[in-house]
Amino acid sequence: MNSNQCSFCGSKRSEVEMLVSGNEGFICENCIEQAHAIVKENANAKIAPAADKVEDLKKPKEIKKFLDQYVIGQDQAKKQLSIAVYNHYKRLLHAQDENREVEIEKSNIIMIGETGTGKTLLAKSIAKELNVPFCIVDATILTEAGYVGEDVESILSRLLQVADFDVEKAEKGIVFIDEIDKIARKSDNPSITRDVSGEGVQQGLLKLLEGSIVNVPPQGGRKHPDQKYIQVNTQNILFIAGGAFDGIKDIIEKRLNKHSIGFSAEKLSKNEEEEYILKQINAIDLRKFGLIPELLGRFPIVTYLDKLSKETMIRIMKEPKNSIVKQFVELFKMDGVELKFTDEAIDKIVDETIDKGLGARGLRGTTEKVLEDYMFNIAAKKKVVLTLNDVKVS
Ligand code: ADP
Repeated sequence: MNSNQCSFCGSKRSEVEMLVSGNEGFICENCIEQAHAIVKENANAKIAPAADKVEDLKKPKEIKKFLDQYVIGQDQAKKQLSIAVYNHYKRLLHAQDENREVEIEKSNIIMIGETGTGKTLLAKSIAKELNVPFCIVDATILTEAGYVGEDVESILSRLLQVADFDVEKAEKGIVFIDEIDKIARKSDNPSITRDVSGEGVQQGLLKLLEGSIVNVPPQGGRKHPDQKYIQVNTQNILFIAGGAFDGIKDIIEKRLNKHSIGFSAEKLSKNEEEEYILKQINAIDLRKFGLIPELLGRFPIVTYLDKLSKETMIRIMKEPKNSIVKQFVELFKMDGVELKFTDEAIDKIVDETIDKGLGARGLRGTTEKVLEDYMFNIAAKKKVVLTLNDVKVS
């Protein structure tokens, strides 16, 4: 122990006002203040369960209403997610009941939809509503233990980090596992070669999903023998997985044909037919795609996100609480400039973005580009009206 420096930040005695001594170290006034702030913040942010009684829980309809502020369209997914979250909280309350006879299992969710349709946004918005720790992990960085890449436990390291290492808080969090389709089994016959980034990872995930106590390396990455672990119980962590599942349509189509459901008999346009088929997705199709049955059993809710139509993209530009239009108007307002988007300009921005094939994710980039000169010359005008002529993106 060095009596001449703070054991926390390493500041020298000469650099600080005071050093308070403890049994095994010293702490300076700056670190005391920081520690105090952390304690205070944690006390303020006491986390859900949202209520002690079922009557006080937010009902699915209310949860959906909240999601409506941020996510446009995707009504079916929002509905299913709201129910799942509501049931999740009921389950937490039920688990506290000592006289319970029935164990209610949790319902993790898989969301399927093209990139940029709002999967991450939905999961993020739900976490915001519930005020619980939330993290996003990419399934593609995970590999089976012993191989290059990250152990599945590192997923929980992220959650711990966002929960400021408050284990109790992390144990009620939400984990969004992105690109779950990328860890599908590569071949139908699992025994031919080891599939370290596919089935092995799925097996590894099972342990987290089924609700067990997991040893988590605090800094993530790979586990190693002399590391200290934090034990995390995953029983009440809600897992939401997302993926595009390219090619799943053919699998569904095959299954539907086999059962001779005559969707083609109805008069549907090509797009409608595609949507219709994709909406029929279920666990059988995901299994065919390469997810193992045990894993699917842990994701009882499968929901499909619609492709974004032009109309939806236009609404995404304008309607969400922090829509792109609202954000740029605010940005210009800070310089005293009134920014207006004409409907034609918005229409064109959407068309340009659709051409790029980035989903709603591309809307911001297109808008940035269109506004580039105005932002560069900001304060030159008091009013900017964005018209069709402004939208010339190559
Ligand atoms: P992914 O489905 O690939 O996870 P994201 O949720 O990350 O897509 O969406 C990317 C961005 O596009 C979001 O941050 C949001 O700005 C916008 N976006 C996508 N879908 C919607 C939607 N349905 N409503 C509102 N914004 C959306």
